Amino acid sequence: SGVRETTAEVPAIRLRNLTKTFGSKGFNETRAVDGVDLDIRQGEFFSMLGPSGSGKTTVLRLIAGFELPTSGTIELEGADVSGKAPFQRDVNTVFQDYALFPHMSLVDNVAYGLRVRGMKKAERRERAIESLERVQLGKFMQRRPSQLSGGQRQRVALARALVVEPKVLLLDEPLGALDLKLRQQMQIELKELQRSLGITFIFVTHDQEEALTMSDRIGVFNNGKLAQIGTAHEIYQRPTGAFVANFVGTSNLFGPDIAASLYQRGGQFVVRPERLTLDWTASTAKHDGAASLRGTVTSLVYVGHATQVRVALEGGPAVVVLVGSDLPDEASVVGKTVSVSWLDRDAVWLPDGN
Ligand code: ATP
Repeated sequence: SGVRETTAEVPAIRLRNLTKTFGSKGFNETRAVDGVDLDIRQGEFFSMLGPSGSGKTTVLRLIAGFELPTSGTIELEGADVSGKAPFQRDVNTVFQDYALFPHMSLVDNVAYGLRVRGMKKAERRERAIESLERVQLGKFMQRRPSQLSGGQRQRVALARALVVEPKVLLLDEPLGALDLKLRQQMQIELKELQRSLGITFIFVTHDQEEALTMSDRIGVFNNGKLAQIGTAHEIYQRPTGAFVANFVGTSNLFGPDIAASLYQRGGQFVVRPERLTLDWTASTAKHDGAASLRGTVTSLVYVGHATQVRVALEGGPAVVVLVGSDLPDEASVVGKTVSVSWLDRDAVWLPDGN
């Protein structure tokens, strides 16, 4: 069973035992979302993170009203909206492909949602221009979407979703189509925009780095269930299970056998790469409160500010160690016997079978 998260104040979104199955029972039934309990706070930047097929998008579509739950409930600021149509919910969605109207100018694209809501022409134009200015596109308001870069189109989609002032904005991998540099720039812009508007953002991504940098809290999905909910720090430093430890960051998971032989106890543990120390002289001198194992260097990956050294430990797992600049050149290092040590307090213990 998954974890459960509740708060005292009225949350922006409350999911209770939310379940969605596709297909038919006993034939091709898929449990896309499986008993999710979650409170998302007002004004929070909440990310849903998980591998492909883990149910993130389905949860988002259930909140938006594009899908109806098989069972369970969805509350928006305390009101049950589980059976309501999308337009009856005070939420809006930004899709990965932006879904802009190609034949309309930016200002008409952004004003569209206001027209559907019956707002007068002069007012909706004014609001649309305001919204475009908020994303630094005021000067392009007469252009068509085809006359913009990918990042600019992304901003138009944002302006269009925000112009109706939704309580909650749903974002489904909105940066997925952008190149790395632009993606990193948009991550910062999006986060700043969210903070200045104070609107609750629910952000779907399979990119763990993106989730870690942007979110107030993250929900990690696995097989339609929430595996863990927490801040970036909690998720990375205190994973509660092997799935989260493996999915978020490099886990360096030490299994039950090696755990028992080093510490005489059950369970398994994780030591993050930056918490491991590599000794090129292969010394395994014992220090109080620390453990050490010999191993063989199998490869190096240079990552700019540091180098990731992969070491196959004797009687243990293959681990990644993060090493600073003082590194012998690769030819002399691969195949070398080294030792790897860590402080006992940097071993994060995971419960058995989790
Ligand atoms: P991705 O990152 O690839 O978008 P996801 O975590 O968002 O993945 P979902 O799209 O929510 O995952 O899918 C969860 C599961 O439900 C998958 O097994 C998927 O095949 C299934 N599924 C989703 N939508 C439907 C549908 N309309 N009909 C049948 N099965 C579906």
